[in-house]
Amino acid sequence: MARTGIVKDHRYMEHVASTYHPESHQRLEVLYQMLEEPEMKETLVEIKPRMATQEELELIHVPRYIQLVASTADHACVMLDPDTYACSKSYETAKLAAGGTLAAVDEVLRGKLNNAFALIRPPGHHAESNRAMGFCLFNNVAIAAGYAVRKYKVKRALIIDWDLHHGNGTQHSFYDRADVLYFSTHQFPYYPGTGFANETGSGAGKGFTVNVPLSPGPGDAEYAEVFEEILEPVALEYEPEIVFVSAGFDTYYQDPLGGMQVTPEGFANLARIVLNFAKETCGGKVVFVLEGGYHLEGLRDSVREVLKTLRGDHLDGRRGEKLREAVDHRMIDPVIKKVKETQKPFWKNL
Ligand SMILES: [Zn+2]
Repeated sequence: MARTGIVKDHRYMEHVASTYHPESHQRLEVLYQMLEEPEMKETLVEIKPRMATQEELELIHVPRYIQLVASTADHACVMLDPDTYACSKSYETAKLAAGGTLAAVDEVLRGKLNNAFALIRPPGHHAESNRAMGFCLFNNVAIAAGYAVRKYKVKRALIIDWDLHHGNGTQHSFYDRADVLYFSTHQFPYYPGTGFANETGSGAGKGFTVNVPLSPGPGDAEYAEVFEEILEPVALEYEPEIVFVSAGFDTYYQDPLGGMQVTPEGFANLARIVLNFAKETCGGKVVFVLEGGYHLEGLRDSVREVLKTLRGDHLDGRRGEKLREAVDHRMIDPVIKKVKETQKPFWKNL
């Protein structure tokens, strides 16, 4: 059994909108309740979060924007973009979300834990260097990857973003850098509008952004096919020293925001694929960071299965074999072919 950490803190529920919002504190409420179930309790190690420092936020965000978010503290709610609220405790909560992710990185890169899942909010992957977007204030996963490079001298970090939406903020943070590879599967065309297959990076970062834009419809088998046909060969060639997963669960088959068909078992299978190649390239150092996922039961059941995979329950390859026979090739082969053709100049393995 692996030593798996979780970042969990009730202060993450203090970012509360004044009216109904899908990105609500209830998302963590159901997850934290699930962690108390007998089969989960005492199998996971709690990681104490901390506030990210100004310097750490500045790994990704400009001071003027950090100041803007800070100015919302202890005030009535304001909208920072049409979808993104900041209320009196949001600044503190967002700093704790970024800092909680950094605490997970510390534990994993110092070898105290094998892997970890930061069960935090607000989410981060839409947040740009200079503005809030899509429910996100600070870009937790991008700050964490920047931190791994700066503090631990990591030369290659891989971010896998399986959220329903494209992580525009994360992509832009590292678009011209080779030390952080960004891979995303996302519904397309859809919010936020970025993530075309031909967005592959620029300058020194050319080839270190891999986008897989998907029409609605793919489920467990098709996602697994994309991961095995594109992500795995690229990751094995890139040889990351740490792997991050921007883990959104809005591709769940009943999620109110999405058109994908992934089940809790499907998420566990994707986690298995990631852990297996991470074992080869970096001894399995993987940090999962919660992004979206708005169907509460679906979120709870999916995160439970992923946590079980992280601690070592589902690493058996047979799970994947069954899914291989179920792939709808008519649905998924055209996009796989297109992405492979686009990325071939950069990756021998494709
Ligand atoms: Zn999302």
